[in-house]
Amino acid sequence: MPLKSNQVVSIGYTLTDESGNVIDSASAASPFSFISGKNQILPLLEEKLGEMLIGSKKIVVLSPEEGYGIYDEMALQVVNRSEFPNDVAIEEGMSFIADSPDGKEMPFLIKKIEGENITLDFNHPLAGRTLTFDVELLSLRDASAEELSHGHVHGAGGHHH
Ligand code: ZN
Repeated sequence: MPLKSNQVVSIGYTLTDESGNVIDSASAASPFSFISGKNQILPLLEEKLGEMLIGSKKIVVLSPEEGYGIYDEMALQVVNRSEFPNDVAIEEGMSFIADSPDGKEMPFLIKKIEGENITLDFNHPLAGRTLTFDVELLSLRDASAEELSHGHVHGAGGHHH
């Protein structure tokens, strides 16, 4: 059964890549919480959580296509150093957020600096990776009206304001 929409879902997880490196994690003591049905996490992971009982664990393996997409060489772009403000220090590996013409935020990484030429990488940092989630479903509850209007979870695993 898929998860009902507008629920606060709290999970613990360890995310590893194909080499077993831990990329990210959350635990019962410090859970990750999201609102279901809002595309806040990878859709297939959310679907798999819908098949789990509270308190159960599962290993979910997502291919790049099921995760953050395949690595796309077309998402590389070379710009001149002058495109960046002078007072901004630029180093390989740094990430920035650009605004697209329609106002969307487009995060990118400085992939390479060769003289005045700077290669930007607009791929998701996890593009091309096979992701293994060792996930535990900790709890489910209905989201409050306030949480729904803010679009995020309040309290454990969420925002504190
Ligand atoms: Zn809020």
